[in-house]
Amino acid sequence: MQKLLNELIENNRSYCEHGKVANYIPELGKTRKDLLGISVYDIEGNLFQAGDFEHKFTLQSISKPIVLMLALLDNGEDIVFEKVGKEPTGDPFNSIVRLETFNEHKPLNPMINAGAISVSGLIHGASPAEKTRRILEFIRKITHNDGLQINEAVFQSELKTGDRNRSMAYFLKDFGNLGGNVDEILEVYFKQCSIEVTSKELAYIGALLARNGKDLLTGEQVFPLRYCHIVKSYMATCGMYDGSGEFAINVGVPAKSGVGGGIMGTVLNRMGIGVFGPALDQKGNSFAGLRIFEQMSEELSLSIY
Ligand code: GLN
Repeated sequence: MQKLLNELIENNRSYCEHGKVANYIPELGKTRKDLLGISVYDIEGNLFQAGDFEHKFTLQSISKPIVLMLALLDNGEDIVFEKVGKEPTGDPFNSIVRLETFNEHKPLNPMINAGAISVSGLIHGASPAEKTRRILEFIRKITHNDGLQINEAVFQSELKTGDRNRSMAYFLKDFGNLGGNVDEILEVYFKQCSIEVTSKELAYIGALLARNGKDLLTGEQVFPLRYCHIVKSYMATCGMYDGSGEFAINVGVPAKSGVGGGIMGTVLNRMGIGVFGPALDQKGNSFAGLRIFEQMSEELSLSIY
């Protein structure tokens, strides 16, 4: 495995050239585009890493399946499914169009921004600060990393520029599909997106899902099986935005990407994979990261299909 990961980084680093670092959140635009790292946890808990695996980056959309898990634990699935649907959109992650045309006026799934904002509104807590603290504590607990922090500069940058998300939140509120105050819910959403990790944390959470919620180190059942099925189904059908179908064909594992450059993959009973490569393709997925997943899937026969 270690040899394979070294080769994957070496063979794919040149692809970073073909992508572009996200700059619609200005602070993300400062990231070096040639970075590329990978971490893999197998389900026995062995860790393999290569490339820029020590580099920190923000979760961005990879926070969506994690916060969805917490929302399910806080509320149960009936309340969550009242707010978000179960279908992929085939639209970009920040598209607003279906909020008006879909007759229920609720987001089609929680992996697009509109759906994730609704889900952030479901997290229990008396204030945005408490909700954010609970999300951060949850991610620290499931990764066994008490050092995880919010990148304040990235948060401030998105707070200043996130008007598309703001407009979606107001739209949802107008249709009665957002519980609570728009600014407060967006504060929680922007902060969850700004939590800083390395590829190792993504691999750990991926492996936790690969073990259907059973912790690698303690054996504790941290997520119920049903919720693992829900979260992984969303990852498989909507996790790579409007590139999810192509990813299913070329890679074939449940995965979630973020515009920070991360991709988190989970392969049932085998492994969790975390890749970081901030140069993105036009859909917002890591350009070199996609190549790594494709080659790894072929090399290790990872496709679940
Ligand atoms: N924070 C980002 C946004 O809302 C997350 C998007 C993403 O990673 N695709 O635009």
